[in-house]
Amino acid sequence: AAPIITIDGPSGTGKGTIAELLSDRLGWRCLDSGALYRVLGLAAERRGVALDDAGAVAEVAADLPVAFVSGRVLLDDEDVSEAIRTEQAGMAASRVAVHPPVRDALLQRQRAMACPPGLVADGRDMGTVVFPLAPLKIFLDASAEVRADRRYKQLKGKGLDANLCALVEDIRARDARDRGRSVAPLCAAEDAVIVDSTAMSIQEVLDRVLKEVRR
Ligand code: C5P
Repeated sequence: AAPIITIDGPSGTGKGTIAELLSDRLGWRCLDSGALYRVLGLAAERRGVALDDAGAVAEVAADLPVAFVSGRVLLDDEDVSEAIRTEQAGMAASRVAVHPPVRDALLQRQRAMACPPGLVADGRDMGTVVFPLAPLKIFLDASAEVRADRRYKQLKGKGLDANLCALVEDIRARDARDRGRSVAPLCAAEDAVIVDSTAMSIQEVLDRVLKEVRR
């Protein structure tokens, strides 16, 4: 079996960035599982499917025409890489992600990404549900304020409108839903290494994770 490193944690902790840097460094594949849920939310909305209709959303998930091609995310061959990064898409993703049949429908797709030389997978339940046997599991955390502030700077940097208070609210709401859901709630696996990045730079987090990889 291919070696797997899982990186879980709430939104805005830099999981995606760390997963990408780490997979580049190791020459492994990278699974951004959040992108799958985001694309699904977008696809469901576009098809007029109610996000709280578990059965209907699971049907969309079962044959979701999504592809990851050279760092871009394609839905039905359309590049939706930017469209899935909005706060609204994040919220839609967390709404479809609460349904057990939806999570089941995406399970095989995620596991199929694990092939040699290895996989770095980031999300909420990579270490707890999707790859419970992964030898290295990281749980990346940070305070809600710091995560909102990072997101704020990111949006401002792109010349986009942003409101820090609204971002803190959004992050708290999404955290509450992700942690409170009955299936695959966001939590650290028992054997996960917990890294609190509140006062750390991306480079410091990467170094910390690489130290675990070399162990
Ligand atoms: O990581 P990202 O912010 O892109 O994830 C968007 C949403 O998708 C999360 O808030 C969460 O509800 C859901 N998600 C999930 N399980 C994963 C990855 C993401 O439930 N493995």
